[in-house]
Amino acid sequence: MAKKSKLEVKNVSKYFYRSDTNSITHAIKEVSFEASNGEFISIVGPSGCGKSTILRMIAGLIVPTMGELTLDGERITGPNADKGLVFQQHGLFPWLTVGENVAFGLKGQDKAKVSEKVDELIDMVGLNDFKDSYPHQLSGGMAQRVALIRTMIVEPAVFLLDEPFGALDAFTRLAMQDELLKVWRTNNPIMIMVTHDIDEAIYMSNRVLIMKPNPGEIKEDLIIDLPYPRDRLSDKFIEYRKHIIETLEF
Ligand code: ADP
Ligand code: MG
Repeated sequence: MAKKSKLEVKNVSKYFYRSDTNSITHAIKEVSFEASNGEFISIVGPSGCGKSTILRMIAGLIVPTMGELTLDGERITGPNADKGLVFQQHGLFPWLTVGENVAFGLKGQDKAKVSEKVDELIDMVGLNDFKDSYPHQLSGGMAQRVALIRTMIVEPAVFLLDEPFGALDAFTRLAMQDELLKVWRTNNPIMIMVTHDIDEAIYMSNRVLIMKPNPGEIKEDLIIDLPYPRDRLSDKFIEYRKHIIETLEF
């Protein structure tokens, strides 16, 4: 279990300076929200509304222009093991096997224990036969599963995902959504996932932040009050879908 944790995003704004056009982009305007461990938050909104920017600030990869972000009361000043990041491009090391990729985050720790954990996770996502394979020998869905458990093994308090299934075919995508829900239930981290797939957001999360563009702001912080596993064809599910589509601005 990830430790009890609380993320606070307080009045955060972000401007980007572009030297090629000598202009400034107001990417994020006064975004505030809080999240506690066990919550699964999705961020949806049109392309360019600042979803990745918010995720990168939480990860500590970029700093806000105004406002602040804290984890358990401590200001986020850079990336560390408390925050795990999974991108659309899996980013596996091509020269390492699946097993070595998964073990990477625990380098320097007790070998036997690490090996046991690696096997457990590889088993969980059904890749036992591929432990000694290299990334180029895997399908997109398999590589994405490896990317997930590679982040999971370090048990980050905050699990950040930027369109993690964007590169997958529809069928693999559905299976991966259930894998990720398993990951979430096992470790109970704060999950924050950017997605452009409204059904995916409703299926997985208990809160959806609906953003609007120019500048990027949270238009609505919507609670999805449905039991898991969710039925994509239920009336309530379809009502949520309708509400989100009506709220989104393009
Ligand atoms: P989203 O993930 O919602 O598609 P982004 O967070 O990537 O949106 O981008 C939000 C806005 O900030 C866009 O207008 C984008 O062009 C701009 N932006 C993002 N990163 C940079 C950067 N490093 N330099 C300049 N502009 C950026
Ligand atoms: Mg993005």
